[in-house]
Amino acid sequence: MKNSHPKKIFIEKDVAKSSVTQQILHKLPDVPVEYIDDYRTIKIDECKIDDVFKKSKECLAIARKKGELVKQFKCRDGIIGNTEYYISHGNNCSFDCEYCFLQSYFDNAIPTLFVNHDEILNAVKDVLQVAGDKKIVFHAGELCDALAFDGLTDLSLKFISLFSEFPNARLELRTKTTTIDNLLNVSGINNIVVSWTFSPQVIVDAYEHKTPSLEERISAAEKVQRAGCNVGICLDPIIMCEDWFNNYKAMLEMLFDRLDIEKIKFVSLGGFRYLPSLAKIIRERNPQTNLLLGEFVPCIDGKHRYFRPIRVEIYREIGKIIGEITHDVKVSLCMETREVWNTVKDVL
Ligand code: SF4
Repeated sequence: MKNSHPKKIFIEKDVAKSSVTQQILHKLPDVPVEYIDDYRTIKIDECKIDDVFKKSKECLAIARKKGELVKQFKCRDGIIGNTEYYISHGNNCSFDCEYCFLQSYFDNAIPTLFVNHDEILNAVKDVLQVAGDKKIVFHAGELCDALAFDGLTDLSLKFISLFSEFPNARLELRTKTTTIDNLLNVSGINNIVVSWTFSPQVIVDAYEHKTPSLEERISAAEKVQRAGCNVGICLDPIIMCEDWFNNYKAMLEMLFDRLDIEKIKFVSLGGFRYLPSLAKIIRERNPQTNLLLGEFVPCIDGKHRYFRPIRVEIYREIGKIIGEITHDVKVSLCMETREVWNTVKDVL
């Protein structure tokens, strides 16, 4: 519970009596509570922006998600990717990665849990039923780590139960946590993939503040596999650092040595990218950071990425490292341009 023990809880009056709210409060009996009308209006007053983020991440908000509960995601023109669905089960998380795009995405940085689970699950079910026999992919963890608060909400168990009725669909739970207890005692969950973002420990130390170490993430992935679950490996964002090649090579060798290759569903590669609005916050919060050093260029979707030859080199080298270990795991690029895909596809 290290990552989900807040100093203060804000609760929307509308969901104060909900069973999920009561379950969370039961698990956090000593935390002060403030009842509010709308989580979007919570303000954390501090002079420095870094303090606003830090203090916000020590709180928790419990709210009802209104509007789109399931969002269809399509890549913008020029960026390659499949149409997939994102489940809105929460906003933000209590970790504090320097590169997190959510810093410039929401009005506040308070980890927020949407507890209208029945409405969310019904919205997912509606999409699944319309899809029929078509293969369809859902994600949890796009706007909030998928498992960071699972110890409080048990939402993963509800997802697993729903997706067991739809074997053609797949749900990816994207995380950096070690909150896996709920996944260790369920069986026959072939269409759930728990995908960890793995980074070399030097990157974890430099940029992924308050997150579990690389070793802790690998150990959690091992346990989940042993319990029968598939895992995904996300190297996203890949961040250039001194001796990047050897750092990523050592990590990949460790991953493929420790994990069961048959139960690795995919490896996804994505270079660090950012919108100018995020760069401003990163600089303001971390004036000494090395994250934005390097050759970045604006791309067709408005995001800045490493200069194309650098990205190509990264993907080709990582593709070759994986190719020397196995050809049985699907490797793909995340949010990349057609030009880059075409230049690296022979080694993926
Ligand atoms: S774990 Fe994910 S959601 Fe949480 S701060 Fe890091 S990048 Fe953002």
